[in-house]
Amino acid sequence: MKRTADVLVVGGGPAGSAVAILLARAGFQVCLLDKRHFPREKPCGEYLSPGCVPLLKRLGVLHILEEIGSQPIWGMRVETSAGTFFTGTYPGEAVPPHGYALPRERFDTLLFEAARCAGVECLEGWRVVDLIRAGHRVAGVIGASNGRTRHFTAALTIGADGRNSVVARRLGLFASHPSHRKVAFVQRFQMPAELGGLGEVYLGRAGYCILNPQRAATANVAAVVDQRDLPLRRPWEEVFRELLAAYPSVRRKLIGAAPLNSLQILGPLACRVKRIVGDGFLLVGDAAGYYDPMTGEGIYQALKGAELAADTVAEGPRQKEAPFAALEPYAVAYRREFDPKERVCQLLQQIVRRPLLCQVLVRNLQGRREQTQELMGVVGDLLPAHRLLRPGFLASLLVAGVPSLTRLVRCAR
Ligand SMILES: Cc1cc2nc3c(=O)[nH]c(=O)nc-3n(C[C@H](O)[C@H](O)[C@H](O)COP(=O)(O)OP(=O)(O)OC[C@H]3O[C@@H](n4cnc5c(N)ncnc54)[C@H](O)[C@@H]3O)c2cc1C
Repeated sequence: MKRTADVLVVGGGPAGSAVAILLARAGFQVCLLDKRHFPREKPCGEYLSPGCVPLLKRLGVLHILEEIGSQPIWGMRVETSAGTFFTGTYPGEAVPPHGYALPRERFDTLLFEAARCAGVECLEGWRVVDLIRAGHRVAGVIGASNGRTRHFTAALTIGADGRNSVVARRLGLFASHPSHRKVAFVQRFQMPAELGGLGEVYLGRAGYCILNPQRAATANVAAVVDQRDLPLRRPWEEVFRELLAAYPSVRRKLIGAAPLNSLQILGPLACRVKRIVGDGFLLVGDAAGYYDPMTGEGIYQALKGAELAADTVAEGPRQKEAPFAALEPYAVAYRREFDPKERVCQLLQQIVRRPLLCQVLVRNLQGRREQTQELMGVVGDLLPAHRLLRPGFLASLLVAGVPSLTRLVRCAR
């Protein structure tokens, strides 16, 4: 059997549902396919940066997010292995901005249902197994469900199917990251006490751990570690417990905590694609490449990428014979929007790998409101990332660090 639409979106995560909503609103006939049934879990820190807030408002779901009791997140507390820490809130004028934390099964279902309400044909339980080609052009996908296969044809196919995108793989565009090979362990816990409204980041020698508070004294706990440092042939639960035990503050907070779901493990996390547009297709969200969860911008990137894609598709020329021929502006806008933040993330990874430097910078951020707000503004997707890449910003942190660096070296002796 064959089904035809203007646009076919593969994957009903934040990127797929958002782009489907925006294109349906622009008047396209959109079909959205997901291999899973909603609600479904997705391993994630489950934190939405404050940069997501205006995007969710434009998608018309922000009020629902508030109604279902999402936890506001006002900033981050960052602690090093030596116990030095700083606390930063997001910068804002009269009303301080905040992000949110909530289970992904709730957030993703909310967006998927919003797509249905926007007139998108939403099909669950359909795994895309291959692409349909017409010469060089992608002309749709082949889906499988309960032993049946079906051809779905469309003028444009959007790959929004996450880090292991079958669309990117079938096009030969997918590549693992050559050097950044992290593995994540994620689980939700009932905590003995409320954590408050700050995300907590613990930087260690071999990786990092993040506690994101959620409603009713629950928390999402994620430990990320280099693949090389993972012990082999040991039960994953045991490895996770050991990873957490390496952070004394986390260990203390988890005394009396009870797991709420099964432990989820995934990696290597980072991946790249050679290009994100081509004849009859485009990629969005993690399918367009992913780096690292430390600064938590994946959902922002999925939602903002969806806006950029929808703008290009909706504003492009609509010739009958090649309706979606001009997709390159999306690729340009995408790189302009996200490349600087990825450079910031790479820089932060370099710093985290050097515990002494890390301690100096964290110590120097203590009590320096202007700098912490600038950092939090970039991390929270509120300020452009290039503000942190200015030599002046980094130098100001390091120069202030000279006395404390001397002190640390003296202590180390
Ligand atoms: C450990 C970890 C922690 C993270 N923490 C955060 C965080 O706190 N905040 C944040 O903003 N980001 C975080 N991220 C990143 C974030 O999870 C992703 O960037 C985000 O989910 C990307 O959304 P997406 O829609 O592109 O892909 P996904 O959310 O992965 O959705 C892809 C969808 O495609 C479907 N699909 C896949 N293959 C097929 C197929 N063949 N056929 C049909 N359907 C298919 C899947 O079922 C899924 O529903 C984290 C990532 C990791 C790994």
